[in-house]
Amino acid sequence: MERTRSQQLMERAVQVIPGGVNSPVRAFRAVGGEPLFIARGEGAYITDVDGNCFLDCIGSWGPLILGHTPPRVRQAILTQLDCGTTYGAPTEAEVEMAEMLCRLVPSCGMVRMVSSGTEATMSAIRAARGFTGRAKIVKFEGCYHGHADYLLAKSGSGVATLGLPDSAGVPPSIAYDTITVPYNNLGAVRDVFQSHADQIACVIVEPIAGNMGCVLPMEGFLEGLRDLCSQSGALLIFDEVMTGFRVAKGGAQELFGIRPDLTTLGKVMGGGLPAAAYGGRREIMQSMAPLGPIYQAGTLSGNPLAVAAGLATLRIIAEDPALYDRLDAKGRYVAQGLKKAADKAGVPVTVNQVGSMFTLFFHPGPVTDYASAKASDTARFARFHAAMLQQGVYLPPSQFEAAFLSDAMTDGDLELLVGAAAKALQSL
Ligand code: PMP
Repeated sequence: MERTRSQQLMERAVQVIPGGVNSPVRAFRAVGGEPLFIARGEGAYITDVDGNCFLDCIGSWGPLILGHTPPRVRQAILTQLDCGTTYGAPTEAEVEMAEMLCRLVPSCGMVRMVSSGTEATMSAIRAARGFTGRAKIVKFEGCYHGHADYLLAKSGSGVATLGLPDSAGVPPSIAYDTITVPYNNLGAVRDVFQSHADQIACVIVEPIAGNMGCVLPMEGFLEGLRDLCSQSGALLIFDEVMTGFRVAKGGAQELFGIRPDLTTLGKVMGGGLPAAAYGGRREIMQSMAPLGPIYQAGTLSGNPLAVAAGLATLRIIAEDPALYDRLDAKGRYVAQGLKKAADKAGVPVTVNQVGSMFTLFFHPGPVTDYASAKASDTARFARFHAAMLQQGVYLPPSQFEAAFLSDAMTDGDLELLVGAAAKALQSL
């Protein structure tokens, strides 16, 4: 059989890139397929190097809430390009960007820009440790906060997808100060606070988890974390790299009305280019160099092209009062459609959805933490994923990743998605 161009490129890629990919989940290992090499993206669709077109429900793993390169974002990048790509010096646009972030995200009195979500969470944790003078951090099983050594314990995303216990290359001494507890288990967090009260620098949490698939916080969970942190002097960090500007203009903290001390942002705020940030209470952020003793820096931080794309994206979001209502309606339509189709096909599933992020778990449910997510039938998910791809729908190649809808998707696109799922579920 003739090799596709994607297959030919993969043969070359594996010679020079580990697993042929620059980020593990892209390798399609969990679904037993081979990755598609993408040639272009337009609106709600992507096209691979063989000319196959797909409805894009990955959206670059979260950034593309408006679809691929909306005209205003494209124009903003081109306008900046004419003025240069990077200066390593302050710019007017990054001030506007910081003002915009502080205006939209309730807990951010000040922000510092970085280039990736990993950097944002690393920096926020350093800020929390520096500010409190404490060492220990509390994280939740199945949450992913980037690939910093001490954050890979019981991590979600690619670590979950590949079934790794934890990453090799992380000495126990480095993970020593990381305490891991089950998501949605406030009692377990209370126990940790009881035994380590004044040693805990921070609790870091995905306020809506996306990296074990989409898992919602149960009533009172985030409020409970807020109270425990406030009582003990630990800082609460909301990792909103995925949920920031995704579930509401002001992220999950706006949706649930809870104020963390620090927030990490990424994905949507870069408008498809590498930009991320951490921010929070002014007194904490004023401890960062050059104002204070906590060091953090970056050659390409606040990169002008990334700021141009991000600012244009945030302006579109800020100016559109109906955007999140539209995205919520799309998410609900898809979630209900998937559940109905699964029931009709007699396949036990749970659909978790918030706004435009969702996961179809092959598990009767409820899915509320890493243990229940992991109990899903991943072999069935793999068959479902392949059947969807065959019908032109590009879903995350892992049971443990959230899928994303974009504002570029029309009613017709969503009907295509639900219709394809109905057929795929019948065929399992
Ligand atoms: N935090 C969360 C919640 C994420 O979803 C991710 C990426 N999926 C990260 C941090 C890390 O971001 P990046 O891949 O940009 O380093």
